[in-house]
Amino acid sequence: MRTPLRRRVIAGALFAAVLVPAAASAHEDAVVIRTYDASGLPEADLDAALAAAFAILEDAGVPVARLSCDQPDEAARLHPCRAPLAPHELSLRLVRLPPDGIGPVTLGYSLVETPVGFGSLATVYVDRVARLAAAARVDVPTVLGRAIAHEIGHLLLGTNAHARAGVMRAVWSPEAVRASTPRDWRFTTRDTTALRDGARRRTSHPVQTSGADLVARHRPFW
Ligand SMILES: [Zn+2]
Repeated sequence: MRTPLRRRVIAGALFAAVLVPAAASAHEDAVVIRTYDASGLPEADLDAALAAAFAILEDAGVPVARLSCDQPDEAARLHPCRAPLAPHELSLRLVRLPPDGIGPVTLGYSLVETPVGFGSLATVYVDRVARLAAAARVDVPTVLGRAIAHEIGHLLLGTNAHARAGVMRAVWSPEAVRASTPRDWRFTTRDTTALRDGARRRTSHPVQTSGADLVARHRPFW
């Protein structure tokens, strides 16, 4: 998504890193989101933002679970963050990057391999979201949560398309952020159906739930 002016970019690429769903055990069909926070956001704000994002996704019928990979124990060779991503896992990076020029800026992007409708890496620029939140006079976790839900939405929908309404709108102005209602930040009925299908395609794959199995099958590459 973006603030008015510049078109956001979604590249056709696929990122694979490390993995396993400790958190996924709570929801067998959950999409696991690995979080990598390099933004320095206060932990309470990060937790609140993720809670807001997950609420939007779960409101659309997509159960999600978090796997924090910010500080994987280097001594723990079987740490789930050290295994390759499974089909039901996504990576979320939270970083800081100043506005690139005057006027509207890109708030985040997702790498989606559009020919096959699949993507696993989403990035959100926390400082840009914070500027938008300040301009809209809305708290940062609320706006950040919406931005995260938007980018995760791209990954699950497998497309760079945007909607005219709801959280998948392309352009977010301070006025719209300030004046909108919670309904304006949910997935539309049409997107909800596609979102559930996308999540089901991922979670229907046979998934390893043992860190030992995963490490045995996929040797760490560092
Ligand atoms: Zn978008």
